[in-house]
Amino acid sequence: MSRRTNKQNRMMDSPQSTTVNVDLSNASDVTCDNCGNYTFVPVMMMKRLSAILSPTGQEAVIPIQSFACNACGWINKEFLPTGQDEEADTIQSR
Ligand SMILES: [Zn+2]
Repeated sequence: MSRRTNKQNRMMDSPQSTTVNVDLSNASDVTCDNCGNYTFVPVMMMKRLSAILSPTGQEAVIPIQSFACNACGWINKEFLPTGQDEEADTIQSR
């Protein structure tokens, strides 16, 4: 008798959606863009605000929570806070 596996091969054909009411059984896994790993750890990105730009007139460090790949430390672009001008320069190209 041949053994039958119930492995589900989900196609990643659904467009990205920010809908809150979702059925997770239909949700696709987010994988690391760098190595394909699918587990992530919370990390803090620190943004240094120069005294010139700071509303208080003093240099400030602002923590921003993001998620990094558990295997290689890569942070997917989709996890980065939006509106970063220097993003294209600081992220290593694939
Ligand atoms: Zn990775």
